[in-house]
Amino acid sequence: MAAQSPAAWTGVDAAIAAEADAAFEFLARLVAAESTVGREAPAQEIVAAELARLGFEVEHQPVPEATATAAPGGVAQASYSGRGNLVGWLNRAARPSLLLNGHVDVVPADAALWSADPYRPQIRDGWMVGRGAGDMKGGLAMGLLAIAGLRQATPEAITGELGLVSVIEEECTGNGTLAAGNAGILSDAVVVLEPTDLNLLLGGIGILWVEITLTGISAHAESADRAVNPVNSIPVSRSRGPGRERAPRPASRRE
Ligand SMILES: [Zn+2]
Repeated sequence: MAAQSPAAWTGVDAAIAAEADAAFEFLARLVAAESTVGREAPAQEIVAAELARLGFEVEHQPVPEATATAAPGGVAQASYSGRGNLVGWLNRAARPSLLLNGHVDVVPADAALWSADPYRPQIRDGWMVGRGAGDMKGGLAMGLLAIAGLRQATPEAITGELGLVSVIEEECTGNGTLAAGNAGILSDAVVVLEPTDLNLLLGGIGILWVEITLTGISAHAESADRAVNPVNSIPVSRSRGPGRERAPRPASRRE
């Protein structure tokens, strides 16, 4: 994106303000779509419609079943038939490229713990309340709002390829983003639209899926002292116990 003058940024701010209502309406539609694992398709169609409205070239990107079975894929939560990622493109193949990544899936909401129906979004004190409004359908909506503002106010500013990928299964496996990467949906830089309190977060937690084979020696109970319990050969699980999730934080900082 070309450098912009302060006056141009004022124009972007005004365009964002003008588009804000449409962005919140998009967000409300998205929150109302109960996109738990296996039920993401209606939400992806809402994203597809918004991308098309904003002038993106829209592409459905399947998640092959092999994504889960080939390392480092996570254990699939459901068949990937009829479920997949959605990608929007501007200036396809132009360089440099930037990709926005967001996930459309949410974890189930226990309605008893909510003050209202989690899938009927409400505005309270200027905030939208509903399952996934923060993590991270709001990120998808605000990323698209920023692009809409830029394109309205400074249409010449975005010269390189700009993509937005809306993935599935971020909450449980990461296989959506993994499948996108495997399919070549990559770029020179990526902005992950997770909520970070409006700070720039340069690192984050991740999940490592591993398969461990342990070998022991079985023995009859009367000769148990000659048995080798393979569990005892996992020093980290024995020494860290229930606190093992407190792994060292990755190098990250906020600016
Ligand atoms: Zn998230």
